[in-house]
Amino acid sequence: MAVQRSSWEGADRMYIDNPEWPAPAANPENLAFFTAASQGKLLYGRCHACAQAHYYPRRICPNCFSAEVEWVEAGGHGHIYSYTVLNGDAGERVLAFIELDEGVRMLSNIVDARAQSLRIGAPVRVAFGRAGAVRVPVFVLDDTEAKA
Ligand SMILES: [Zn+2]
Repeated sequence: MAVQRSSWEGADRMYIDNPEWPAPAANPENLAFFTAASQGKLLYGRCHACAQAHYYPRRICPNCFSAEVEWVEAGGHGHIYSYTVLNGDAGERVLAFIELDEGVRMLSNIVDARAQSLRIGAPVRVAFGRAGAVRVPVFVLDDTEAKA
């Protein structure tokens, strides 16, 4: 999918505007997540009872059902765990499981990348796409690692 890179904030945060993306359903449980995303922060959950990280963040740990969870800001870097390329009327879209450096996997989209340049294990970093009134985390290939 061709998207427009709209701006960079700081050294590491990218915002992408694509008015075609639908807004996710808002509810009290995900409000903090989307509020953080609008500020360029990707949150995941960590449980104090079992010490495991999880995504998406929620009020109850999905591993041990403890309510002793906290929301933690991720560094925004990870790699492609798996992906698929969808071809439709709107063009090519890439749906992917991203494994963050913090060890959690999340389903997201990879934008602004040709399918031929994707591979499992490729480094990615978070960007924030506009979906309706909120921003949602998506990923772009992290070419800064190759240049380093
Ligand atoms: Zn737990």
